[in-house]
Amino acid sequence: MGVRIALAGNPNSGKTTLFNGLTGSNQYVGNWPGVTVEKKSGYYRKNKEIEIIDLPGVYSLSPYTLEEVVTRDYLINETPDVIIDIIDATNIERNLYLATQLSEIGIPMVLAFNMMDLVEKNKDQVDIKAMEKHLGCPIVEISALHRKNIDKVIDVAVKEAKKDSIKPIDAFSPEVEHKLIEIEDHIEGLKDNPKARWFAIKVLENDDKALENMNITAKERSKVRELVHALEEELDDDGESIVVGDRYQYIARIVQDSVKKGREGLTTTDKIDRIVTNRWLAMPIFALVMFVIYYIAISIVGGDITDFWADELWGETIPDAVSGFLGNIGVADWLSSLIGEGIIGGVGAVIGFLPIIATLQLFIAILEDIGYMSRIAFILDRAFRRFGLSGKSFIPILIGTGCSVPGITATRTIENDNDRRMTIIIASFMPCGAKVEIIALFTAVILNKWWIAPLCYFIGIGAVIISGLILKKTSMFAGEPAPFVMELPSYHRPMVSNILRVTWDRIKQFLRKAGTIILLSVIAVWILQHLGIENGSLAYIDEDSAGTAFLTYIGNAIAPLFAPLGFGNGPSAVATFLGLVAKEVVVGTFGVMASLGETAAESDISQYLINGLGFTTVTAMSFMVFNQLTVPCFAAVGAIKEEMQDRKWTLFAIGYQIVFSYAFAFMIYQFGRILVLKEAFNVSTGIAIAILLGMIYLMVRKDRYKGTVQSKRSVES
Ligand code: GDP
Ligand code: MG
Repeated sequence: MGVRIALAGNPNSGKTTLFNGLTGSNQYVGNWPGVTVEKKSGYYRKNKEIEIIDLPGVYSLSPYTLEEVVTRDYLINETPDVIIDIIDATNIERNLYLATQLSEIGIPMVLAFNMMDLVEKNKDQVDIKAMEKHLGCPIVEISALHRKNIDKVIDVAVKEAKKDSIKPIDAFSPEVEHKLIEIEDHIEGLKDNPKARWFAIKVLENDDKALENMNITAKERSKVRELVHALEEELDDDGESIVVGDRYQYIARIVQDSVKKGREGLTTTDKIDRIVTNRWLAMPIFALVMFVIYYIAISIVGGDITDFWADELWGETIPDAVSGFLGNIGVADWLSSLIGEGIIGGVGAVIGFLPIIATLQLFIAILEDIGYMSRIAFILDRAFRRFGLSGKSFIPILIGTGCSVPGITATRTIENDNDRRMTIIIASFMPCGAKVEIIALFTAVILNKWWIAPLCYFIGIGAVIISGLILKKTSMFAGEPAPFVMELPSYHRPMVSNILRVTWDRIKQFLRKAGTIILLSVIAVWILQHLGIENGSLAYIDEDSAGTAFLTYIGNAIAPLFAPLGFGNGPSAVATFLGLVAKEVVVGTFGVMASLGETAAESDISQYLINGLGFTTVTAMSFMVFNQLTVPCFAAVGAIKEEMQDRKWTLFAIGYQIVFSYAFAFMIYQFGRILVLKEAFNVSTGIAIAILLGMIYLMVRKDRYKGTVQSKRSVES
């Protein structure tokens, strides 16, 4: 017989870690709250009859946030056989609040006291026996991270699941308890209903949303209203506050009874945080960390390792071997060119940056795992709150450093409509893994400075802030950002298996893209480059023919669009356009074009970019920044559409990204021309100055909407 087990618990209590341990799956474990918005399900690796569902983390079952609604709807409507409530045992008091609510649903429950490794390290003492007696349900002490006792939780849960009903945790004072029984008695639909207690409490809390689906007559309704009203009069408080107050008092009592904190004073985490989140040191440390990471990835790994991997292996050895082989078996010229220049030239150019991408992803995974990423959100929140941006926006932006798609999806946790839409628009400004390819290419062949890549990272953050300042002052996004409450998790030593799994997951996605969408794109580029018009008719074009390839026509047609940005040549324009498919395709396209008739060693790409296309430091910078800030890839645009749920907003997002990136790259090119290339002033310089002044004006003008409260999103269930 199958058993369905739901994992519930506060954010960051370790649900997903436990879920992965139990199912052997690879769900994303982030050391910050709000990572799991959708429920995920998998099967227990030791018994496929047992299904396990990872629910979004919540502090309570009220109907205020999307996570709460997803979790409570699942528990109420789908009724799993048993709930495992994961309790962060270093913080029992806060975590029990949810436990009291879960026990009222009438589903058998097991409490998994997680993080017992930390509890032991802190020398806290928890009297489990006493707790079990108070709470009336079994407790298993586990460490999800170290996979300790996790199978035992399942055994206990399966046993509990056989029970038909359970007693709710008895958290209420006699008056309230009495009233709840009265309410249950007055509603016909609650007779013999295992969820009677849950609904009675919802009546008391005046939680209309929960009562919508309940069978309750108008007469019953007015009667129970009266009952609630009487209690509110008696205790001189509103129903919801009465319930909340009782829960807290109850929890305080039992925690005082059965938990002894080992040591008072600062934990290791507190000590580290004193430095790392210090008002003055936080930003410099954060900047330093990012500089070091990008420096190692782009300048060190991008050096010898990439020289070998990209230039020798993918640039010479493999192409030579393949062309030798193709020559031996005597394939047609065009096929040999398609495989050698098109596929190996294009995909090879992209794969060439694999060591850099892997290093970057590895470092990001480490920062996430040890708990530093959530500090970054905290630090940035403090810094940027005064710019009108909410800290909750920074989690999507930080996730976007790996890939914009999950970043954009993570905006779902932002309750406030205006904040959420704004975050969706700006989340893709960060250099994702694919954009890093473009940055690495131009850094390697033209810009040659170790600080270029970290600079791009900070340009991303800068673009976010500037956009925040500008957009916040428009009526569309007005209003104070919602306060951001975030639990900072304890630091822990990096868990190698976790980190490698996350890194491998991201590398796999990259490789999958290289084998599918990038492969198709470079084949398309090759075809457009070798098919064209010669003497008025369709023809195969190669170096020796006099005809013009379609790619040239297309390039020439769209190149003028980019002339004001300094890269108004056909190939760069085409590469930029194809970058909409996936940003790696930009590099792949240059790879195919550079390898015309030759192999695609990176040095050839560099010859091609510098001599063939005439890139200078200034135009390279403008090209890079434009591609970083402009409309992201199709997948990310899809995510934008999905999260906006509205065509007009999706178009606005795309439009804003185009205008913003264009203006930014235009200024870089125009000012770079004057300042770096020492060229003369002209009309364009004037326009660039006007744009700069306009942007500054939009950022600093008076905020007419300051202090207005924004409407909260009505959470749809
Ligand atoms: P969720 O938000 O409840 O899904 O929590 P996650 O599974 O994403 O875990 C949050 C953080 O707690 C991660 O950094 C985990 O590595 C860490 N964590 C989870 N379980 C344990 C544990 O038993 N001990 C310790 N020390 N850390 C844990
Ligand atoms: Mg999770």
